[in-house]
Amino acid sequence: MELFDIPVVVRRWAMDSASPFSPTPRTELHRIPARGSYDRAVIAAILDEALYCHVGFVDGGQPVVIPTIHARIGDELVFHGARASRLLRALAGPVCVTVTLLDGLVLARSAFHHSMNYRSVVVLGVAEEVTDPERKLAALDAIVEHVAVGRAGIARPANRKELAATRVMSLPLREASAKIRTGPPLDEPEDLAYPCWAGVVPLRTAPGEPISAPDLTGDFTPPGAADFARGRGDSQSG
Ligand SMILES: Cc1cc2nc3c(=O)[nH]c(=O)nc-3n(C[C@H](O)[C@H](O)[C@H](O)COP(=O)(O)OP(=O)(O)OC[C@H]3O[C@@H](n4cnc5c(N)ncnc54)[C@H](O)[C@@H]3O)c2cc1C
Repeated sequence: MELFDIPVVVRRWAMDSASPFSPTPRTELHRIPARGSYDRAVIAAILDEALYCHVGFVDGGQPVVIPTIHARIGDELVFHGARASRLLRALAGPVCVTVTLLDGLVLARSAFHHSMNYRSVVVLGVAEEVTDPERKLAALDAIVEHVAVGRAGIARPANRKELAATRVMSLPLREASAKIRTGPPLDEPEDLAYPCWAGVVPLRTAPGEPISAPDLTGDFTPPGAADFARGRGDSQSG
């Protein structure tokens, strides 16, 4: 399946449940717990805004972390890939999925207090293959829509051969945590007069001017830049 490297406004699927995740011994934050959140809406918003995730798993004793595209449908994350893909097979075992939204560089007076503003999510669990044809198609649509809203209704749908070659995995959102840093550098009082600039350099993922495919035939309007605002992306100043 071909996907598109253009970030767009993300369709928001309601979580099936509104109650927060319960921290487990594996997801309880020990390091700066005040930055943690188990709120489903917070976690859903970060998962939806992130264009891609990283999946960590152990392969023959070796930890491996592989980037891939995800999409959230209610209380599950779906993934797709080639039927023979190691990543897709690994998802059927214990995995750790992370997403990170980088909101800013935090430049402190002291080297020690340099940091980043971010919103990140860690999800732990075991995925299962989606074999039901309707659910599989819905998951594939969700993945296309996650990357480019409206494309699932425009692009040629996957054909039988493409569907057979594609494995779809679903990871239930049961054990998850978010961690969020916002705001200015946190320098020590004795460093506040130190003679160097301090503050936050905002960062965000922003689309460039669309470049039509060289073999594009027909007269089509490319997507507009205004269509591509993705989440808040400017939260580093808070
Ligand atoms: C862009 C970015 C840059 C960072 N830079 C640094 C750095 O330079 N040094 C550093 O020490 N840390 C950094 N962090 C924070 C880092 O992700 C960890 O939170 C921190 O190192 C503590 O890890 P731990 O395993 O000891 O945490 P613990 O608190 O022991 O983790 C326990 C559980 O808390 C949850 N958790 C921990 N961290 C996160 C997270 N980031 N997002 C969601 N859930 C989480 C997980 O479920 C985890 O299993 C950075 C984070 C981001 C997103």
